Formats: sequence, C-alpha cells, structure tokens
Amino acid sequence: MAACPGCGGRGLFRRPSRRGWLRIREACPSCGLAFERTHGHWIGAVAVNTVLSTVAILIVLIVAFVVAWPDPEVLEVLMPTVATSLMAPLTFAPISRSLWTAMVVLVLPPEDPPLLDTRPI
Ligand SMILES: [Zn+2]
Repeated sequence: MAACPGCGGRGLFRRPSRRGWLRIREACPSCGLAFERTHGHWIGAVAVNTVLSTVAILIVLIVAFVVAWPDPEVLEVLMPTVATSLMAPLTFAPISRSLWTAMVVLVLPPEDPPLLDTRPI
C-alpha cells in the first residue's frame, strides 16, 4: 500500500486498531523521517485525496453511463457513482498522505530540519 517517501519502508499506518489504516505514524518506523514537517501539512493530503476521489467518481460516472447506453436510467448510473463517492475518499486516504508527504520531501529534503517543532508543549 503506502510506502515511506524517504526509504520505501512499509508500516506507516498504525495497526491493528479499528482506524489504524487512517492514522499515519509521526515518523517512519524504518528511517525516522518525520511526516508532518510544516503546520497544516495534512491539508495538502486532503487536496490530493479530493483530486483522486473526483477522478475516480468521474471515471465511474462515465463508465456507468456508457454501459447503460443507449437507454440510461438515473438509478443505474447514480448507484455506482454514489458508492464510489462514499468509498473513494476512505480508500485513497493512505495513498494521499504518503503521496503528499513525498511531494513535501521533494521540496524539503529529509536532511533539512523540519519547519515544525512537534514536541509537546
Ligand atoms: Zn522511511
């Protein structure tokens, strides 16, 4: 699934809790790369997730419409599209977080100090 953008290591998400696959660790268990490097870091992951989910929804909508052609009914097209709109954001959440972190690592390489002091106050 998702891999560390620094070393390619796995196990970035906590397990085996109920929502473990949605909760990314603070740092890579293999190389120690801190994932949250700036304030508001995860807003970018939300944007990536929104784009991926929108593309998935549009693909399903177009495929459902083509499959139902020449006599498409509303429910026939709408049901798979609604199901995709419910599942895509959850499915893409881990991918979005690791993809966004990889983009940030390209701009702020791991050897640079993090911009955010994540120690508790
Ligand atoms: Zn790593």
